[in-house]
Amino acid sequence: MKHFVLACLLLYTTCCAYAQRSCASFEYQQQKIQSDPLLAQRLAKALTPRHEDIMLNGADAPPPVIIRIPVVVHILYNKPANNITDVQIRSQIDVLNKDYRKLNSDSVFIPAYFKHLAADCRIGFELAKLDPSGKATTGIVRKSTSAQTFGLDDRIKFTARGGSDAWDADSYLNLWVGDLSGGLQGYASVLGCDKSVDGVAIAASAFGTTGTATAPYNKGRTATHEIGHWLGLRHIWGDALCGDDQVDDTPPQRSPSRSCPKGVVISCGSGPYGDMYNNFMDFTDDACLNLFTTGQRNKMRELFLPGGVRYSLLSSKGLTGTGIIEPDKPVEDPVRIIQNTIRLYPNPAPIFFTVSETSERPLTGKLITLTNRFGQKTLQKRITRSNESISIQHLPDGVYIITIEGDAKSYKLMKGQ
Ligand SMILES: [Zn+2]
Repeated sequence: MKHFVLACLLLYTTCCAYAQRSCASFEYQQQKIQSDPLLAQRLAKALTPRHEDIMLNGADAPPPVIIRIPVVVHILYNKPANNITDVQIRSQIDVLNKDYRKLNSDSVFIPAYFKHLAADCRIGFELAKLDPSGKATTGIVRKSTSAQTFGLDDRIKFTARGGSDAWDADSYLNLWVGDLSGGLQGYASVLGCDKSVDGVAIAASAFGTTGTATAPYNKGRTATHEIGHWLGLRHIWGDALCGDDQVDDTPPQRSPSRSCPKGVVISCGSGPYGDMYNNFMDFTDDACLNLFTTGQRNKMRELFLPGGVRYSLLSSKGLTGTGIIEPDKPVEDPVRIIQNTIRLYPNPAPIFFTVSETSERPLTGKLITLTNRFGQKTLQKRITRSNESISIQHLPDGVYIITIEGDAKSYKLMKGQ
């Protein structure tokens, strides 16, 4: 079986690679799981929805509104031309910040029937400012190497093998850029993998929007796509004929799209609007990719919930201090932190809940805010009486975080029967 997989890989990387997009993340994942069967369990655990876990621990908080990820870019070059410029590196970071915030100018080309599904993922990327030892850094590591090319064997991730050692993956997203063999544009690590190989490898010819970036992969979308894998997304066709990408709002699709499809392309009963070939997790050319869906955003952001595989990035020191740029609530003076003296009932609450003040904790006049598990504010109201009943009939079932103005503590409320 192993030889069969390797033969397929060889076929895959030799027959078609130069003609069309070649992301090898799925093949890499299969290869890794073959050699480490426990990785499949760690992957499955990493992808288990976590929203039910967070209600059990009152100290947990939802991810910040904007998740800010420190990035280190390792440049491996065998020839001077591949020692790509800071400008090219920044052009890639710029694309990521547009694509993951739905600020990409080509979002205007999202077909009208898919526009309502397109999401601002509220994830930002910044070159690290502090390295793992706490020293100031540009977030760029440059290394000359004798290696002509790098493959799926992860040599690019180890200094001793001609690559560059990963920075602590609990605190940084590692991007390795070099010459990849067989015309590969890139591949992402498997969730739950060893930290030493955690990150994304991208060909210098498909990185950024200038310099060595070459059409049709010169709009920075290879990194957008591979980081989607690094955040738990599958290819939109589910890596099988009419497969399942485990995302509810993406239409079923028979197989990868190629080049730049036009109009409605129906496969696997994906009518009336057809395949979502503009999705960043398809194989369409860079210039024709322009959206993540809300379902994909939610899946990615779940990894940042407490206990999630990317949760540790939120407390990275890589960007000088906290990874949170827009906290959900103002930082409170510690002396004002009070005990849990309010009353909140019923909980779970099917239609409404009541919040009651106590003599130690007057609430009248304070703003109460409900935030869903994705960090979105879903309800805000000023409390006008000592026993305030608040309707939540219109909200989907699930866990909500309640914060009250002037109260540093947050509370969990379950909406449902
Ligand atoms: Zn891919």
